[in-house]
Amino acid sequence: MTQTLHIVGGGMAGSEAAWQAAQAGLKVVIHEMRPSVETFAHRTGKLAEMVCSNSFRSDDDEQNAVGLLHWEMRRAGGIVMAMAAQHRLPAGGALAVDREAFSQAVTDALMAHPNISRSDAEITALPDSGHWIIATGPLTSDALGQAIAAETGTDALAFFDAIAPIVHADSIDMDTAWLQSRYDKGETEEEQRAYVNCPMTKPEYEAFIDALLAAEKAEFHEGETAGYFDGCLPIEVMAERGRETLRHGPMKPIGLTNAHKPDDKPYAVVQLRRDNALGTLFNIVGFQTKMKYGAQTEVLRMIPGLQNARFARLGGIHRNTFLNSPTLLDNQMRLRSKPHLRFAGQITGVEGYVESAAMGLAAGRMAVAEILGRPLPVIPQDTAHGALIHHITGGAEAKSFQPMNVNFGLFRPLEGIKGGRRGRKDRYKAYTDRAKADWETWLAAQEVPA
Ligand SMILES: Cc1cc2nc3c(=O)[nH]c(=O)nc-3n(C[C@H](O)[C@H](O)[C@H](O)COP(=O)(O)OP(=O)(O)OC[C@H]3O[C@@H](n4cnc5c(N)ncnc54)[C@H](O)[C@@H]3O)c2cc1C
Repeated sequence: MTQTLHIVGGGMAGSEAAWQAAQAGLKVVIHEMRPSVETFAHRTGKLAEMVCSNSFRSDDDEQNAVGLLHWEMRRAGGIVMAMAAQHRLPAGGALAVDREAFSQAVTDALMAHPNISRSDAEITALPDSGHWIIATGPLTSDALGQAIAAETGTDALAFFDAIAPIVHADSIDMDTAWLQSRYDKGETEEEQRAYVNCPMTKPEYEAFIDALLAAEKAEFHEGETAGYFDGCLPIEVMAERGRETLRHGPMKPIGLTNAHKPDDKPYAVVQLRRDNALGTLFNIVGFQTKMKYGAQTEVLRMIPGLQNARFARLGGIHRNTFLNSPTLLDNQMRLRSKPHLRFAGQITGVEGYVESAAMGLAAGRMAVAEILGRPLPVIPQDTAHGALIHHITGGAEAKSFQPMNVNFGLFRPLEGIKGGRRGRKDRYKAYTDRAKADWETWLAAQEVPA
């Protein structure tokens, strides 16, 4: 008997998962609630709708991690990349598309596939049996969101959130910053040196507050509430409440001694906390912000020690439903408490169209192997797909887990490559070479003999 794979959500992830599974011979039903139930951001009833920009970002598969993800998806016969190629617009090194034509083409290809059918109903509860991929995205409907929250615990499902920026560790100036936990807290030396601290003098603090207040901020999208959760006020909102508020909040200088100038008491200190197991990424603690991206980079680079910071992700505020995947999902992206439910896309804690589609590709192939009883070798950690999956299902710190774009900070380091700009180019090329070789091996291992 043919087994059916049910996919909830026909966005980036659901569409790619459906294609992968159908191409491997599975019967697939896509449950997509639009257009009968709408979200505030989607405008049509089409599959794989792009809700905001029309870009899949850099297409450079040698020097850019998202370009590498494109490459891996193309090699795996992905529908998102195939249709993007057909509807590509000139955009320099970026892969931008005609959004209407793109989502129409994905919809047509999926609906023409003999193994795929579509149901327009909203799924409001977690199914008890069968094979399911839940790919309902950041705007998961309220009823399903509540059902997921009931299963996972409300703390595990973040509704509407603020995100703090994430910095590449190797771009922090450690001649200015130093490692120390407040009051040297911690049992081990590693814990006592867990934070990166960036000191500010009074004039530096005053200039920072002025720039923060003057910076351009993003407006809330229609339909979103402007209410903030306690404890995650954007820094500019704190600054508006009083010039000293930040100095008594996330920028408080107490319990810290500048290792480079022990006699100078900093007026304020910005702390960064490790964001991944590799120690290559650090998030700026308590620095959730809705400053526009251009303004944000300028203002944050005023922080001594971050003057040359490269950002793996900038801060932002928008409604976002996502799981605390490091605690809730296994390495096959299945819910530990209900393993017949697999999750994919932005709801798993990745961010962006490409990353979401890539997680759909992975989940689709995992479901195929499970349902057809075929072995599926673990996706190699040194590929872009593998680095992301490793991050969301275990590599990331569960306590500060926030949606993540793919970036080279998630990759295991390679030995023997020099630092500096030239070194970085060589390193990224070496990462992408390693990833491509591993990806080819992984794909070949799934080929079914004729
Ligand atoms: C306002 C906004 C702007 C964004 N802008 C960008 C951007 O410019 N670039 C970028 O890369 N990323 C952007 N993102 C992130 C973007 O949503 C994701 O990158 C991507 O679309 C996520 O893919 P997905 O498949 O996980 O979810 P989606 O593409 O959102 O697909 C989820 C689908 O599930 C359906 N669904 C939800 N609940 C149910 C239910 N209970 N039953 C049935 N169907 C359901 C929805 O209708 C939707 O079609 C933005 C997100 C938001 C919210």
